[in-house]
Order: sequence, then C-alpha cells, then structure tokens
Amino acid sequence: MVVVMDMNSTEEQIEIVNRRLDQLGFNTQMIRGVKRIVIGAVGDRPVNDLRDLQQMPGVEKIVPIMKPYKLVSREGKEDATVIEVRGIKIGGETVTIIAGPCAVETREQLLTAARQVKAAGANIIRGGAFKPRTSPYSFQGLEEEGLAILKEASLETGLPVITEVIDEHSLQLALDYVDLIQVGARNMQNFRLLKAVGQTDKPILLKRGMSATIEEWLMAAEYIMSEGNGKVILCERGIRTFETATRNTLDLSAVPMVKRLSHLPVIVDPSHATGDRGLVLPMSMAAIAAGADGLILEMHPEPASALSDGPQSLTPEGLQQVMQQLARIMPAVDRRLSN
Ligand code: PEP
Ligand code: MN
Repeated sequence: MVVVMDMNSTEEQIEIVNRRLDQLGFNTQMIRGVKRIVIGAVGDRPVNDLRDLQQMPGVEKIVPIMKPYKLVSREGKEDATVIEVRGIKIGGETVTIIAGPCAVETREQLLTAARQVKAAGANIIRGGAFKPRTSPYSFQGLEEEGLAILKEASLETGLPVITEVIDEHSLQLALDYVDLIQVGARNMQNFRLLKAVGQTDKPILLKRGMSATIEEWLMAAEYIMSEGNGKVILCERGIRTFETATRNTLDLSAVPMVKRLSHLPVIVDPSHATGDRGLVLPMSMAAIAAGADGLILEMHPEPASALSDGPQSLTPEGLQQVMQQLARIMPAVDRRLSN
C-alpha cells in the first residue's frame, strides 16, 4: 500500500507516520513527488489494522496496491518521476538523448565520438567498458582503462557518461568513473546485481531482457527500488520473436504500456532493437512520437571499423540527422530536448 500524505503535512507528521509503519512491520520508502509525499509501505498486515493510520495527522489516504511491483507502480505515485543527473533531466516534459559507441575501443576513438555526440546536441555519452558478448572470443572491453577514458570524455565535454556493468566487481569499479549505470538485457534478471545497483545512488538504466515480459521487467526495476534507489530508467531495446530480418523486434507498444503501469521514465534503444543503422532514424522518430522519454543510440566515428555493433551504429552525420528530425517531432508531442 501507499500512504498518501496531505499536501500541507509537516516533516514531523511524516516522520511520525513513518515510525508507526516501521512498528507495524512495514518496509517503508519515501517517495517525494513534485506536489506531495507518499510513503510506500510493503508488508502483509491486514487492512483492518490500518484504520488508526488513516486517522493520523497529515495522512490524506491509504491506497492498497494490487500490482506485484509496489514502488514502481503508478498506483502508488501518479506523477512521472524525473531523474536529474548533473543538471540533465530524464523524464517529465523533456527528451534525453544518450549517444556514443557500443564499446570504448581506444582513447582517441572515444574522445572523438564524445566530441561528435556533443556537437550533435545529445545530452549523455555512452560507451561500454565491459562488454557482455555472445562469444567469449569477441572483444570484451577495456575495463578500467575504458572507464578512465569515459571520465576524461566527461571532463572535456561537460556531459555525463553511462556505462554497462556486468557484475558486482565491474559495478564497484564503475562507481568512481561514471554518472549513470546500465544493466544490460542479459542481466535483467541477475537479481544480485539488481540489488547491488539498488544500493548505489547512481541513476540506473535498466534494459528489458530479450525475452522478458513487461511484468518481469517491472519486477526487475522493483528489485532496484526496493534497495532504496528510486532512480531507475527503463529501456526498451527489442525482444526476441520469430522475425529474423531485424536483430530484435522493437516493441514500441511497451512504451505507452509501461508509462501507464509505472511512473518511471522509459527510453528506447533503436540500435540494438533493429541491428541496422538504416532503421535507427525512423524508429527514433516513432519512439519519441509514442511518448518515450529519450533514446540511447549507438554512434561510432567510423562504424566500418567498430569492434562491436558496427552495422547498427550511426555515423556522426547520421546522429546529426536524427537530432534534426527529432527537433521536428518533439514539438508535435509537446516535448523538448533536455538541456
Ligand atoms: C549495449 O548497450 O551495448 C548492449 C549490450 O545492449 P543490450 O544489453 O540491450 O543488448
Ligand atoms: Mn552494442
């Protein structure tokens, strides 16, 4: 259930209610929206025991939550969550564009890409330092050296950086170097990793598993939130279907569906969803038109020589073209680019 506090409730009243929930054996979590504060309370106390709670000063109402994902659910928090990272907002009224190569390959490659991302007007730089490859013989990433290069790119451009972590060790390393943490499709149900990222204070980009239902995906987000980290960004990156013409099948209907079910921001990755740079522009436009809060795009200074995911990587000019087309789409759906 959630305890919705009155708009004019005082910090003291909130504290007293919180303590009472604690005594009743609930696991609580404060969710601070723009207008009001709600306290998420997970426990299995019968509703009858909760009558006195309803009467406490500052409490507006108590709403039972039927969904298995309590903290992630819109039932508990009506207004959209906006996550801020170094001045850049993710969610709400703006659109946030993350771009960069699949992997950090060399210092020069990444710094060049970072400058191109900034020049195109995107908001956040991506680059994998730990690559979860299908083959053990493929390039696995520069690891800590790659993280240091990402940090350098961030210092030079002033843009935040995101990287994927694949286990608790890479997470601990990444925390010192990057602003956002990505949990990849292959790790969406790595519950220990979800708990570990939930114990950090970094925003977490949680990709949908390639064969995960929306409910499984939201439950994965619940794992992160239940550890105390409410800064979760969901990312639709295509799912496995019978279709082989595209790398995956981009489930765009997941965007409005997840926004109906959850208050968390949702972005789309048209690069991994299609596997084909020629499809990235149309699917980027479609994603924003469908209400996505942003995109994560692969872009390489020289896609032909990329060590991973070259065929789906935009050229620098391709990224500029996406940004130009988005500038036309965003106003049509009452959105603007995050600053
Ligand atoms: C990636 O972002 O480079 C990646 C590996 O994505 P996914 O986890 O969606 O396959
Ligand atoms: Mn990739």
